[in-house]
This record gives sequence, structure tokens and C-alpha cells, in this order.
Amino acid sequence: MGSRHEKDKAVNVQVLLRCRPFNDDELRSNAPHVVTCNEYQREVAVTQSIAGKQIGRIFTFDKVFGPSAKQKDLYDQAVVPIVNEVLEGFNCTIFAYGQTGTGKTYTMEGECRRAKSGPKNQLPADAGVIPRAVKQIFDTLESQNAEYSVKVTFLELYNEEITDLLAPEELSKTAMEDRQKKPLPLMEDGKGGVLVRGLEEEIVASADEIFSLLERGSAKRRTAETLLNKQSSRSHSLFSITIHIKEATPEGEELIKCGKLNLVDLAGSENICRSGAREGRAREAGEINKSLLTLGRVITALVEHLGHVPYRDSKLTRLLRDSLGGRTKTCIIATVSPSVHCLEETLSTLDYAHRAK
Ligand code: ADP
Ligand code: MG
Repeated sequence: MGSRHEKDKAVNVQVLLRCRPFNDDELRSNAPHVVTCNEYQREVAVTQSIAGKQIGRIFTFDKVFGPSAKQKDLYDQAVVPIVNEVLEGFNCTIFAYGQTGTGKTYTMEGECRRAKSGPKNQLPADAGVIPRAVKQIFDTLESQNAEYSVKVTFLELYNEEITDLLAPEELSKTAMEDRQKKPLPLMEDGKGGVLVRGLEEEIVASADEIFSLLERGSAKRRTAETLLNKQSSRSHSLFSITIHIKEATPEGEELIKCGKLNLVDLAGSENICRSGAREGRAREAGEINKSLLTLGRVITALVEHLGHVPYRDSKLTRLLRDSLGGRTKTCIIATVSPSVHCLEETLSTLDYAHRAK
């Protein structure tokens, strides 16, 4: 690790590994588990028996969260410092990367419906990174004596096309289909950034509002999924929180600090290797590959300090351009299942995530 690790620190890319617990099916089928987490050593061991021989591989990450790690543990240890950066006026991005069914959405959103029934001003134990980040942001802002505003956007990227997950609900089914067919255009804003034309920006006034927004977005994702006969495992979702804080300098001048936090629930990593270049799926698989593959290349270019960073090669990396590299912090949460049935995907997730270090 040595010097390599120092270089990692310099570019501010952190890679964490989270292994979910066995689910009921896996428990019932008595599947052996092949993943062992050592949180203290920050190591993950994967063992398999090939021709009667036990073969093991060990991967090291910046942090490791085993099956018993709670949402709060992961948040407190990995996300709190990132949100503090955002409150200081920097742009940061957190990705969830892994095979479908390994806990990306659980980690980012948590169980929204259950979350809503929690007592006021207190987060339910299942709440994921998004509601916790929003709460940390409001708790901090409310304790300061400054004017501020908090805006969120929530979009889905499917086939390199952008859909607004917060667009107003009163759309009829046909209008909805129309809207789904007309993806929102991504444009250069002339200042080196990009903007999504027509994307709904929701002003949020308190942390409590976030659950209904999340639910609205998820419901819309489900409807669009059925209407268009697509799979959410093939889409990326991007939840962005932008904060403006008005501060006075000691000289009495006004200063606006602006920070942005991007929370990305990536398409299932199984889409990256099986290009499934068959029939109608060909373009879709290719396009999903494009954002996941380009993201990998962008992160490699940043970590290795390569001159050219290929942001322009996919919509996802264009969207995140102002929040990757430079004085930003990036965190990749790689998620895996402990079961032998997922072994192959687990190894490729660990390899991908490890390359990003
Ligand atoms: P993904 O978004 O990667 O496809 P999900 O987040 O939908 O996966 O998780 C699949 C299932 O596993 C869900 O029912 C979820 O509640 C459960 N799950 C995932 N991670 C955990 C965890 N760390 N602890 C408890 N349950 C989890
Ligand atoms: Mg999911």
C-alpha cells in the first residue's frame, strides 16, 4: 500500500466495502458464505473451493463494513466528513456500486416507507445515506446564524437518457408516457458545467420533507419501469443536494458559499461484463456499459493523475464533472452478498472497486 495509499489520499477517492447479511432465501437454502469481513484490518477475504482445494483472495479497502454494520455505523464513519466538506462549500460525490440485490438502494435510501413512520426529528434505524445527509445538513445549518437555502434534484439515467424523478405527479398516464419518451437534454452551461434543461429543482425547508421526496421519486421510478417495460437494475439514479449559505466576512462583506452533494445509486454491476449483445438488449447493454465503464476510467484517470480525464464520454460523468476530481471528495461504496451463489459477481465487484483505489 505505502506510497500508493498516500497518492489515494491526495486525490480524495475513498473506497469502502459493505457486505450485506444473508437474506431469507440464502438462509433457507443453507448456502455457504464465502465472504469474510475483517473491519479492524479493513480486509475482505473471499474463499472458494476449486477441485477440493480452498482458494482465498484478500482485498484491502479504506473501510470495511460487515453484515452486522448498521446504517448509522456506515454513515458516522464514512459520510459525516464528506457532508462537512459540502457544508464548507465543496462538491462531493458518493457512489453505490455492486451487483443487483446487494444493498445499493438500501445503503443510499434505506427503507423509505418504514422510515416515514419514525418519530419526529429522529431518524429510523433503517434510514440510509440520503435522509441522514439531509438531516446532518439541516442540523448544522439550523444551529448556525446564517441565511441558507437547500435544493434537491432527483434524476434517473437509463440508456444514456435522463428522466426527472421529481417532475409533478398530476401527469396523466399518456402524458407521463410522452414525458418518458422525451428525455431531458443535457446542455453546457457556458461556464464549464452542465445543466439538465427542464429538471425540477425542489426547495427543501426541513429534513422531514426528504422522505416524501424520496418516496415520490421511487414511485415514479417504479411506474416508469412498468410503463416502459424496463428494469431499475439497469438504470442509475442521481440525487443531488445543493446548499447556498450566506455569510458575512469579518470585514462585513457578504459571502455566498455553495456546496453540492451527489448521491448515486449505480446500475447493477452485472451489466458491466455481460454485454448481452443480443436483440433489442444490445444498445441498452452497451449504453449502460458506457456510463459504468466511463466512470471507472474517469476514476482511474483521477487516481493515477493522468492528463486526460474522459468526462465527456458518458452522460453520468458529464453530469458529475464539477464534483469529481480537483478539490472534491469521492466515495465509492462497493456492495456485495456473502453467498456462494454470487461468488463470481462478488469477485468482479471487488476487482473493480479495488482498481479505483
Ligand atoms: P440493490 O439496490 O443493490 O439491488 P437492495 O438495496 O434493493 O439492492 O437490497 C436487496 C435486499 O436486501 C433488500 O430487501 C434490502 O432491504 C436488503 N438489504 C440490503 N443490504 C442490507 C443490509 N446491510 N442489512 C439488511 N438488509 C439489507
Ligand atoms: Mg436498487
